[in-house]
Amino acid sequence: MEMNKKPWPLSTLYGIQERIDTNPDFQRPPVWTKAQKQYLIDTILRNMDIPKLYWHRTGRNPDKYAVVDGQQRLRAIWEFNAGHYMLPKDADPINGYDIAGKKYVELSDELRIHFDTYPLDVVIVSECEEDEVRDMFLRLQNGTPLKAQEKRNAMPGKMRDFIKSLTYHEFFRSFGFKDSRYTYDLIAAQCVLLEINGRPCNIKNADLNRMYESNQDFDTNGAIAKRAKRVFDYLGKMFAEKTPELTRFNVVSLYVLVSSLLDRFVIQNKHKEIASWFIDFERVRREDEVKEAESRDAELIVYHENISRSTDGEESLRKRHEVLIGRLFTAFPDWEQKDNQREFSSGQRIAIYRRDNGQCQLKLKCGGDKCSWDNWHADHKKPWSKGGKTTVENGQVACPACNISKNAQFV
Ligand SMILES: [Zn+2]
Repeated sequence: MEMNKKPWPLSTLYGIQERIDTNPDFQRPPVWTKAQKQYLIDTILRNMDIPKLYWHRTGRNPDKYAVVDGQQRLRAIWEFNAGHYMLPKDADPINGYDIAGKKYVELSDELRIHFDTYPLDVVIVSECEEDEVRDMFLRLQNGTPLKAQEKRNAMPGKMRDFIKSLTYHEFFRSFGFKDSRYTYDLIAAQCVLLEINGRPCNIKNADLNRMYESNQDFDTNGAIAKRAKRVFDYLGKMFAEKTPELTRFNVVSLYVLVSSLLDRFVIQNKHKEIASWFIDFERVRREDEVKEAESRDAELIVYHENISRSTDGEESLRKRHEVLIGRLFTAFPDWEQKDNQREFSSGQRIAIYRRDNGQCQLKLKCGGDKCSWDNWHADHKKPWSKGGKTTVENGQVACPACNISKNAQFV
């Protein structure tokens, strides 16, 4: 989590309402009375301190934020600036200027300038996940963090014991973050749930609670348990030392990635290659985040959006996985499937489609038309029936018409 405090002159807040989400789902609805709003404006005009605001940055170029703390203050400022309410009729003058019953535009220029340039302390929180933001919100509200994983750890059963045992795996020693408040248990639980589902799925607290409840007799030597251990063994070999790139959402994504590869691809000696590819991906991704909007990589923008909110949701996990696996196969186009199966994997298909820009490479019946994602064939350049491999290298985009025509030639 990164935190960056800066004074924002109030005028920099005008007109950016549409980029600031004042009602993320952990926030309470706006409850300030007019009197409370007036009191805030009066405080600002008298040059007294108001508490810091906390915003979670959820997007770049343009910047987007979700308000962690301070939504009522922000609304009060916007509404006053827009002339939605006036100061109280009994307000005392400031520096000889009458402010009673006045709206923003009716204030003296000196007071308006003072208001517009009043520095509001805003703490921008970035590089963190929704759960952390939620915890921060609860702390700022003097509430108690939910400690959902602590509650699960108190639920007896074999699933709990199995997940606890996974947290002692060497892979967890490589994480770039600490095991505060059972975070490692949480991650192990999320990985096991992903393993049970066999694909990206919701791994939020409610889903994990259900898994603990319905698996109290979990077979710790069964197929799921063995697979989970195998994936962790592989990940442990990939990252043998502390790796700052291993953030919470990355660990879960890497689990999905390796789990999806292990059964289908020949990757038994590729630990170091995948690890350095991933570290490079993270570097490119972070560099892209600070670029100008027009020179940014569209796919990495999607990726960024999906690590900025609801990282434990199925859609976020799926979209991140598609980006990762597509890029992985683009980087390693020669990877072969076990037993050279005919069907291209979804990751290979993504890499082939992107490399060929979705355009038909056969050009037997068309002029190299662009195919939509749901209407193209992954064609083996050297036919599979003639020993052609099911690799990204040997794959190409074919439109349905050309594909049929090519198959007819070989009959
Ligand atoms: Zn074609």
